[in-house]
Amino acid sequence: MSHDPFSFADALGPAKVLHVQLAELGLKAVVVVDNTACGPAIGGVRMAADATAEEAFRLARAMTYKNAAAGLPHGGGKSVIVGDPRMAAPAKERIVRAFAAAIAGLTDYIPGPDMGTDEHCMGLIADEIGRAVGLPREIGGIPLDEIGATGIGLAAAIDVASADIGLPLRGARIAVQGFGAVGKHTAKALAARGAVVVAVSDTRGAVVDPAGLDVDALLAIKDRGGSVIDHRAGRRAEADAVIDVPCDVWVPAARPDVIRKDNVDRLNTKIVAQGANIPVTAEAEHALHARGVLALPDFIANAGGVICASVEYHGGTEAVALATVDEKIRRNMRQVLDDAKRNGVTPRAAAIALAEQRVRAAMRVRRWR
Ligand code: NAD
Repeated sequence: MSHDPFSFADALGPAKVLHVQLAELGLKAVVVVDNTACGPAIGGVRMAADATAEEAFRLARAMTYKNAAAGLPHGGGKSVIVGDPRMAAPAKERIVRAFAAAIAGLTDYIPGPDMGTDEHCMGLIADEIGRAVGLPREIGGIPLDEIGATGIGLAAAIDVASADIGLPLRGARIAVQGFGAVGKHTAKALAARGAVVVAVSDTRGAVVDPAGLDVDALLAIKDRGGSVIDHRAGRRAEADAVIDVPCDVWVPAARPDVIRKDNVDRLNTKIVAQGANIPVTAEAEHALHARGVLALPDFIANAGGVICASVEYHGGTEAVALATVDEKIRRNMRQVLDDAKRNGVTPRAAAIALAEQRVRAAMRVRRWR
């Protein structure tokens, strides 16, 4: 991949790229503001030792699509800070505050939490420059992982998709890879609608029971800091075994690229509901489509978190955030599935077309500046 930033540019963006280096402090960061036609860009601040500028470019575009497809008054952006997120707290605070000071003038970018940063980091940034989303509750934040914004939105997307293929949610078999913030709340919301959770996994392993696992018991284990393999009932297996479990809805909610050309044939499901970002490679997604498996695009189905962040930014309450997540995800999922059928394309192609059409429409009403 080229290191020339112009190689990432097209008609949509990026609008601005900022490279920050403060060698004496050990701060090295890149901010990409991809497109602001729909409004100031919202996008996470990722801190990782191996973070790259290329990642920031790709993720910023993904946020442009996600925010536009969700119908939010926000464009897309992303930052990466190169550093170990587990560094000592005072060092991390210095770096995060210096990063905030460096982006003070980039007023069309609103930072949010991502891998390696959390609501405390966002509180520090807001303290420095007066803007950030994903803030601590004490300063007006809505704790989106605690309330399950993304999982609840993903369950809404699954509800729409299952109705679309004539699969009743009551009794539908669900397998969830990754029982963290997204996976737990998805399982809980679907179980509440009568679905049967037949397998879940985390980094330590998987637990499988075709008759259905006790979701409340699994949630309690995770609350105590345990692993799903501590669950008393069901069969224990390697983490990867969750891919082979026959189910109706398979939910990747852990890592990118978990379904690839080499393992896509192992999936035995009707729907793949993408909670994680890019959990299925493009090749594997086409293979699923060819087999008649409905793959719900990540940036439509997992937009609950950013919808919640947008409601927080505009001063809304937790109740408004959850209602907005449900309403927007249902409407957008419905439209993507209808467009995909009408145009004979994959749901992802339909989702990208929907997002681009919204960004271009917004660009037409913006004054050049
Ligand atoms: P999390 O850290 O709370 O949970 C991740 C879970 O995945 C953990 O239980 C971990 O044990 C498990 N895991 C990791 N590797 C695994 C593997 N190889 N096999 C099985 N389990 C594994 O993270 P999260 O916030 O739930 O996010 C999950 C994914 O969803 C990430 O890709 C994230 O980028 C994406 N996402 C999250 C949000 C959000 O609002 N939290 C929004 C959009 C997308």
